[in-house]
Amino acid sequence: MSIVKIPTHSADGREPVADRGVTPDQRLSKREILDHAIETYGIAHWGAGYFDVNSQGHVIARPEQNDERYVDVKSMLDDLLSKGQVRLPVVVRFPQLLTSQLHRLHAAFQTAIQEFDYQGQHFPVFPMKVNPRREVVEHLTASTNGCTCGLECGSKSELYAALSVTQAPESLLICNGFKDESFVDLAMMGTHLGKRVLIVVEKLNELRMVIRRAQANGHRPWVGLRAKLYSQGSGKWASSGGEAAKFGLTTSEILECIRLLKEAGMEESLKLIHFHIGSQITEIKRVKNAMKESCRVYAKLRQMGLNIEYLDIGGGMGVDYDGSKTRYDSSVNYTMQEFANDVVYAVAQVCDDENVPHPHLVTESGRVMTAYHSVFITSIWDEIETFADDRPEVQVTDDDPQVIVELKELFDDINAKNYREYYHDAVDHKDELHTQFNLGLISLEDRADGEVLYWEICAQALRFSQLSRFAKPEFEDLKRIFASKYLCNFSVFRSAPDSWAIGQLFPIMPIHRLDEPTVDYATMVDVTCDSDGQIDKFVDVRDVKNVLELPEYSGEPYYLALFLAGAYQEVMGSHHNLFGHPDEVHVSIEGPGSYLVEEIEPGSQVGDMLDFAGFDRLQAVKRFREQADAAVSTGNLSAEFASEIVERYAASAGRYSYLEG
Ligand SMILES: *Cc1c(COP(=O)(O)O)cnc(C)c1O
Repeated sequence: MSIVKIPTHSADGREPVADRGVTPDQRLSKREILDHAIETYGIAHWGAGYFDVNSQGHVIARPEQNDERYVDVKSMLDDLLSKGQVRLPVVVRFPQLLTSQLHRLHAAFQTAIQEFDYQGQHFPVFPMKVNPRREVVEHLTASTNGCTCGLECGSKSELYAALSVTQAPESLLICNGFKDESFVDLAMMGTHLGKRVLIVVEKLNELRMVIRRAQANGHRPWVGLRAKLYSQGSGKWASSGGEAAKFGLTTSEILECIRLLKEAGMEESLKLIHFHIGSQITEIKRVKNAMKESCRVYAKLRQMGLNIEYLDIGGGMGVDYDGSKTRYDSSVNYTMQEFANDVVYAVAQVCDDENVPHPHLVTESGRVMTAYHSVFITSIWDEIETFADDRPEVQVTDDDPQVIVELKELFDDINAKNYREYYHDAVDHKDELHTQFNLGLISLEDRADGEVLYWEICAQALRFSQLSRFAKPEFEDLKRIFASKYLCNFSVFRSAPDSWAIGQLFPIMPIHRLDEPTVDYATMVDVTCDSDGQIDKFVDVRDVKNVLELPEYSGEPYYLALFLAGAYQEVMGSHHNLFGHPDEVHVSIEGPGSYLVEEIEPGSQVGDMLDFAGFDRLQAVKRFREQADAAVSTGNLSAEFASEIVERYAASAGRYSYLEG
């Protein structure tokens, strides 16, 4: 436990409780503490109406905003754990949230289509690279309620999987990505099944291949062209668009494609124009610019007599991970409705201006469809002691060096009024201490005493700065230094790879004890042996937090959840350190407080990870036995004990790859 505790401010931001000499009736009401927690973690800002906190201080999940059905996530987890159905860490999937997000997206476009008297329709497709799990793909394509969802794939494996799925007849199957002949052949097999397959051409050579295969097959597939736009997105994926982009055809290549199609008598095959300016577009004005540009391309091609029916605007609609509604990388400065309005309005305007029909609009928004439905839950396993803990007491006498005596005086006299000045003085004294040590003027013991006093003063200064109403940026570093390090049972590389790879923020909070004051600052350290395996950036509505406020950890396990983990994380996660897939549970929210477990998928065992790394399980046991036999023959091991450990070794392959409590 760290020495520095956060005082709980009263809701009106007046005096902090910690120093009031509180009597029980002066304490914050439970409601005030709950409100404080809701504000601290920002759940109302990023939860999108799906996540909330109940009066017991537990996180609840709803299948839709304002739905009377909900599940108490903490109680559910307790249930599943006590029945031994899952272990921690665990991925909790709420498939209903996939449907809800799909419907929200579609409804936003329907609303815009009506409002602007738009003549085309909206065709959502799900890009499989965002989350290729079978249950995600099947759930989305099965969704109805007046909305059918197609699929987008970018590799042979994704296409192979997509072809196995029953899609609604009018929904699309879009094939993006770089293709070889077997990819194109696979796509054509889909058209034979009567699926609306669109082969989107990324390069001229691809089109030549498509034409060749079409002629060989006597078959006319639907073709799309991916345009390289000048318009760029914003945020981390801005370089996916623009003239230096990896994908897409330049204007002259598009014209060459059309010449090739005409030459083959296949210009009727051209059905779609596609572009994608990158994921998590943070600024709406980028979307508007890209729409204007792409729609002009569409319009000019229509005017050339090509019957293009679909304008595929790609993905990129962002998720507000931190709830700030800004153009920070982890946020977006628009709503889903605004996005839809701007797209529909821009296309209508350009088309009317150019006198061409309104195209159907295809969206490939994967992140917004999937991010919400998956919650990753782990527990605090232990606390890692830091140097700031457990400082010995220092006795100072007049015989001690002057610098120590002065540090002791600062320590004795620091208070709420002088703490900044005293802190600055302490920093000077610490420098002086080290200078004197380097000159051989003071002993090692003196140096130790001086350092302890310095840290005590820092701890006091930090505490006073917390009590102050005005945040002092100079104490932020101290906050981080004094923060607890909570060892959590998970791997960042498996379950939140974007946090490590690109510094993406995810909302993280306890799923219970939210009716207790937050008294500790902490960062999360994972169980991998990699110093990058930690999370020390947390969402905040106004800024990025370096530490997470948490209720006290006293050795009792408590649960932390990482939300909005359903997009990209599962498929991009790696088996670093041979930690495997966590257990997974799929939950349907049935009524107020009731739920149904639809499916449980056990996570990776040690043996699975051996397979992954190319070790044969039986071989491993055989080799282990040989080594045990060798130890027996040299007399280092009894034969009886040898066979026991061989058995135990073999059985260990069945253990969960994470820490088991
Ligand atoms: C990745 C990708 C998408 C999905 O983007 P999101 O930001 O997740 O909506 C859509 N289309 C293409 C071509 C992509 O490469």
